[in-house]
Amino acid sequence: MKTDTIIVGAGIIGMSLAIALSKNNKKVVIIEKNLKNNLKINRIYSLSEKSKVFFEELDLWNYFTNINELSEMNIYYRNFNNEKKLSFSKKTNIDNIGYIAQSKNIFLVLLDKIKRDKNISLIDEQKIENLNNQKNNIAVKLQNNQLINAKYLFSCDGAKSSIKRKLEISNDYDNYDSIAIVFNIEHEIANSSSAFQIFLESGPVAFLPLSDNSFSMVVSIKNRFYEKNYYSEKNICSFIDKITNNKFGKIKLKSDLATFDLVGFDTESYVNGSVIFVGDSAHAVHPLAGMGLNLGISDVIEIHSSIKNNKKNFNKQNFFSSYERKQKIVNKKARQQLKIIEKVYSIENKFLAKLIENTMNNINKSEFIKKKIVQHANNNLSFF
Ligand SMILES: Cc1cc2nc3c(=O)[nH]c(=O)nc-3n(C[C@H](O)[C@H](O)[C@H](O)COP(=O)(O)OP(=O)(O)OC[C@H]3O[C@@H](n4cnc5c(N)ncnc54)[C@H](O)[C@@H]3O)c2cc1C
Repeated sequence: MKTDTIIVGAGIIGMSLAIALSKNNKKVVIIEKNLKNNLKINRIYSLSEKSKVFFEELDLWNYFTNINELSEMNIYYRNFNNEKKLSFSKKTNIDNIGYIAQSKNIFLVLLDKIKRDKNISLIDEQKIENLNNQKNNIAVKLQNNQLINAKYLFSCDGAKSSIKRKLEISNDYDNYDSIAIVFNIEHEIANSSSAFQIFLESGPVAFLPLSDNSFSMVVSIKNRFYEKNYYSEKNICSFIDKITNNKFGKIKLKSDLATFDLVGFDTESYVNGSVIFVGDSAHAVHPLAGMGLNLGISDVIEIHSSIKNNKKNFNKQNFFSSYERKQKIVNKKARQQLKIIEKVYSIENKFLAKLIENTMNNINKSEFIKKKIVQHANNNLSFF
């Protein structure tokens, strides 16, 4: 089979990229190892304004269901004390703070679009057995012996990318020495679509509102603070009660606890011969700002605009070198920004604590600085 492009991985990034490539009249073959599995997972994402605008351009945003638009984002240091909070509110200063979405709802819309798109074929339950990666052509052999030839292969197969392993490309790692526990809770006192983040000495805890009376929680814990029983299904609600001073009334656990080791990385190269790395296969960051998926969408946006603005040169060698240059810087800087925040907030030192409280207080009084911070987050942490 011959096609313009191959995408490995039908996650949100792989499918969004396929739709963007098709919009640029490119033929796409997606190879996915297990589509059913993606439908089983329901991860909660915060999406930025930049990501929303892109999904609007692809004519998809209006089909996403149960999107919760944030009215406020409140950041606390060590405890839920209103005098120590940094608050971004839609009412007072800012146009858009972000959106909370459920991966399943996004996934189903993307899948439906792909199935109806004549430029895109999806091969499920297959993996690449061999690949011959040349500068201007790529040939792959699947497990079922099917051969596919293309101009480019986009590796969208996530943080444990098998393509990266096959090409022996290494990563530049940040070890946060932490785990994250993700789960959903129901609570008695309404959250009014406000998100919360509290920086504890043990790590940041994020509250993402799914509805007026439920949150998706991401609890990051430094390994040295992790105690299995303290963060068990039985005790996790008491932990939330304790750190919020009972702010949300009675709390009930509404899902299993999913636990992940936290690592951040950037791949050594974003382009290797005819292979281009996109999304989590190229980079991962600390989940404290909910930026992981948004950074991958920024990669897709960059690829989309490179092709749209330079159609004639798509087949020329080095076409993706500007993508590599730009996204490598953007993603590395994003990882560094989040690493600094994570590090500074976890240091336990009286002098630094006072400094952080004063800085948060001063920022909280400046609508101008707060607007700039939200604009930066809405631009997926990019300075471009
Ligand atoms: C605890 C935690 C919380 C997070 N919270 C947020 C958040 O709030 N907001 C946010 O934006 N991001 C968040 N993220 C990050 C986010 O989940 C990822 O950035 C996002 O899922 C990346 O999408 P992707 O499509 O690149 O990769 P993935 O979602 O990993 O998709 C990869 C796809 O490739 C397929 N695949 C893998 N190997 C092969 C193979 N060999 N052959 C064929 N197919 C293959 C997989 O089946 C899958 O379909 C979080 C991450 C973690 C760990």
